[in-house]
Amino acid sequence: MASVPANLHQVRERIAAACRDSDRAVETVTLLAVSKTFGADAVRAAHAAGQHAFGENYVQEALDKMAELADLRSRTEWHLIGPLQSNKTRPVAEAFDWVHSVDRLKLAERLAAQRPDGLPPLQVCLQVNTSGEASKSGLAPEAVAAVARAVAALPRLRLRGLMAIPAPAEGFEAQRAPHRRLRELLLALNGQGLALDTLSMGMSADLEAAIAEGATMVRVGTAVFGHRPAAAG
Ligand SMILES: *Cc1c(COP(=O)(O)O)cnc(C)c1O
Repeated sequence: MASVPANLHQVRERIAAACRDSDRAVETVTLLAVSKTFGADAVRAAHAAGQHAFGENYVQEALDKMAELADLRSRTEWHLIGPLQSNKTRPVAEAFDWVHSVDRLKLAERLAAQRPDGLPPLQVCLQVNTSGEASKSGLAPEAVAAVARAVAALPRLRLRGLMAIPAPAEGFEAQRAPHRRLRELLLALNGQGLALDTLSMGMSADLEAAIAEGATMVRVGTAVFGHRPAAAG
């Protein structure tokens, strides 16, 4: 825990260096600290070190943490980045600011119907499978445009962009390839008149490659909070 501020500092340095390497302004990349499996005290330590956006994978775990951290709510953004079952959408629509893992229209329809009117629109990304056979989760790239148009038309949601979790790869060039595919997909959607601005890609092992390909949000867990217990993913 004592190392969270130091880890955050290091990750911010990595992001800044990657931005310099690709002539990008550092403000164009948002760091999402992935706090899954870590307790409220770890989130609080990161918050005290200036980190205000957090990614969670498991709905109940996230809700419990939010309750413990209710005093920080107005200065904290909560992002769901893990798979979401259709029967769990209501608490997500009520409690989160962002959902990155929308991988079918039905999920978006439920989130739109269940988002309370008094809250700002739920910010959503479509999760895309950019790794083919190597990954089972996410929309097939050729299915994205139709789903994006339908989601963009829903009330109480705002479609912001695309998210992917590429299969792990060694080496900078191999890591760049799936990130490049996601960027090209976003550009194609922009070309069809959808004003999307978010590329949620890059994790502890490949954030430099993601930033080189235009990531606007990197989701970093291990490099901020340390290694997770193996069983908890
Ligand atoms: C766990 C997780 C991350 C963070 O992974 P690290 O390798 O620990 O940085 C990012 N995105 C998603 C969707 C995750 O599930």
